[in-house]
Amino acid sequence: MQDENPKGCENGCVEQDGVCCPKEPPWPAWVAYASTFLFLPVVVMALVVLAQTSVWKLLGWLLILWAFLVPLRLLVCARCPYYGQSCPTLFGKLTARIFPKKQGSMVLGLWLDVAAILALFALPLPDMLRYGGVGALFLWILLFTGAFLAIAKTACARCPLTFCPIGKAGGLAWKLIDTLWEKALEKVRR
Ligand code: SF4
Repeated sequence: MQDENPKGCENGCVEQDGVCCPKEPPWPAWVAYASTFLFLPVVVMALVVLAQTSVWKLLGWLLILWAFLVPLRLLVCARCPYYGQSCPTLFGKLTARIFPKKQGSMVLGLWLDVAAILALFALPLPDMLRYGGVGALFLWILLFTGAFLAIAKTACARCPLTFCPIGKAGGLAWKLIDTLWEKALEKVRR
């Protein structure tokens, strides 16, 4: 639920799902283009491989991608304080071109986003192995997780929507990476 003048939130903030969010988007403009650009190789690799391994899986993957890019935006971005504004993806502005502003919780939509992202990652896994062996499988995992980690660092790390499970997962992933890196450095320094 979004409230323009909620109790407890400072002026210039809006409340979304119990969190006070600054009305001014906290991301520099380049983040939206970086997020989009980072996922392009993932989409291209999935299309190229699935087109050769299973047309039905290709159609299924495209259906999930469409569901993520269009109807799920109605449950997430159309309800977001940054609807119609520059945000960490191009969704904020693109959603405003296809859907009117909505009120309501974003949480269910964000969890459906998680399900869609996991399905987009997992569905092609056996096909990557069948198409190009361990090398293709490794490249797919690297491209997908690399894009996720980069977006977590550039976009989610600045995001005030702290109830978002994607941002929480990104934060945990980087905390783990930083801890492992520190441990490795300690070993080297000894
Ligand atoms: S900040 Fe996130 S949820 Fe909000 S419009 Fe942008 S992509 Fe959608």
